Amino acid sequence: MSLANSNIETNLTMKPTLDPNWPSSPALESRDSVRLAKSYGLFVNGEFTPSSGNRKYWTINPANEQRLSRISESTAGDVDRAVQAARNCYEKQWSRLRPAERGKYLYRIARLIQERSREFAILETLDGGKPIRESREIDIPLAAAHFFYYAGWADKLPYAFPNRKPQPLGVAAQVIPWNFPLLMAAWKIAPALACGNTVVLKPAETTSLTALLLAEIIQQADLPPGAVNILTGHGPVGQALVEHPGVDKVAFTGSTRVGKSIQRALAATDRRCTLELGGKAAHLLFADAPIDQAVEGVVNGIYFNQGHVCCAGSRLLVEESVSDEVIEKLKQRMGTLRVGEPLDKNTDIGAIHSRQQWNTIQQYLESGQADGATMYQPDCPLPKSGFWSRPTLFTGVSQSNRISQEEIFGPVLAVQTFRTVAEAIGKANNTRYGLSAGVWTTKGSRVLNLAAQLKAGVIWANSYNQFDPASPFGGYGESGFGREGGLHGLSAYLTY
Ligand code: NAP
Ligand code: MG
Repeated sequence: MSLANSNIETNLTMKPTLDPNWPSSPALESRDSVRLAKSYGLFVNGEFTPSSGNRKYWTINPANEQRLSRISESTAGDVDRAVQAARNCYEKQWSRLRPAERGKYLYRIARLIQERSREFAILETLDGGKPIRESREIDIPLAAAHFFYYAGWADKLPYAFPNRKPQPLGVAAQVIPWNFPLLMAAWKIAPALACGNTVVLKPAETTSLTALLLAEIIQQADLPPGAVNILTGHGPVGQALVEHPGVDKVAFTGSTRVGKSIQRALAATDRRCTLELGGKAAHLLFADAPIDQAVEGVVNGIYFNQGHVCCAGSRLLVEESVSDEVIEKLKQRMGTLRVGEPLDKNTDIGAIHSRQQWNTIQQYLESGQADGATMYQPDCPLPKSGFWSRPTLFTGVSQSNRISQEEIFGPVLAVQTFRTVAEAIGKANNTRYGLSAGVWTTKGSRVLNLAAQLKAGVIWANSYNQFDPASPFGGYGESGFGREGGLHGLSAYLTY
């Protein structure tokens, strides 16, 4: 895929692989281009420095539980140091740079990500467990595309907001989750820098390696020291960062629980905040839809990235007259998905991200069965070590079941049926979340009607998981507020 044009559209379709019953050789991506350090420091004021507390923890490969490297736990003093560095750089350099110069730095970062994309893809897969095909074709190219896209806006902000005087906010505190580590870092850092803000970012404790490689690239791109600072560590580091009085803007992606605690902490302050939280998306499949394509879209919607996706289509609502056919075809397709070594280019479903997440998924599998739903899993082989979950489908699900109400964040699809459009809309909207939805029908008027009635920030029609840096993304209800991507993504980092 060429990134020469930053306005790319990426379709996250899971490509069919061979029938697993056919013998095939492993096609392992080589780890040779990755040099892992024994341990990593923090990235503050343009330099890698030890944490002041000198505490470290291991990051592991969830596909085999082997230790990869040691990551530094930041202290409150480190948070303070990073926020000071960001403030200093904001006031003395970054906000004063000619906007076109800021753009040049962002273009440089984008090109360096492309140059080192192989290294990034392998690291992302080793540290997080996602299939190498997804890291290579989706996470890394899209991360570069975000930097390209926002680089282009850096000197055009007055055109983006005509008759206004857009100004940066100051220091942005950014906290991200583990499911798309580099991509989430790009979503946060690129618009902030383009608008003239400086950044302190905390990656998730389990997936810091690509953020630290990005720090190396930021050094290589010669950004003024302090423009971007990266602090590793656990939840309390994120908390200390978002609550630091020297911060002007908070951007958080993660769970609704933590999002709510951040909102409480920021109440009665004048700090700006955007929250990208959880989801429980409905995929609506009507009888007139092209069934084979729709089944492919549903599979992509839920099993992509092991279902560790905030906008995953984790609920399928299928019109009753075609439900038997759809479920049969879904089961057939699930049987061709390969679960296993994430570095193998044939793998469709990689490792569950952590033991903790694996436990959560198991609890939901038990809860679905205890509530009376019927569970189906293909009989695919699983590796001996590491954390694995077969793709799962539940039928006979009722609206009140936990598997239909709560975000599982795993490869688990809850199927329900409907008879009328009104019933489909009622069931789809019967959730506290509202991040995304999918509609499969050949009727254009129905798509438009549903798009107006479904309470979700993003609605895909006859496709799913389409992402583009120019397109805003964000939620309703407990899925959060604020948008990332496109012009909306710029406005979150400006006052005008
Ligand atoms: P999480 O537990 O909320 O963690 C997200 C980030 O916040 C991590 O870096 C975490 O640190 C940090 N953190 C934990 N407690 C904190 C606190 N009190 N204050 C500030 N930061 C704190 O979520 P997760 O389990 O990593 O990620 C999965 C969730 O993210 C899912 O609910 C998913 O839907 C959501 N998500 C949403 C989007 C979106 O765009 N809407 C995108 C991706 C994921 P540690 O992990 O290091 O402890
Ligand atoms: Mg890891």
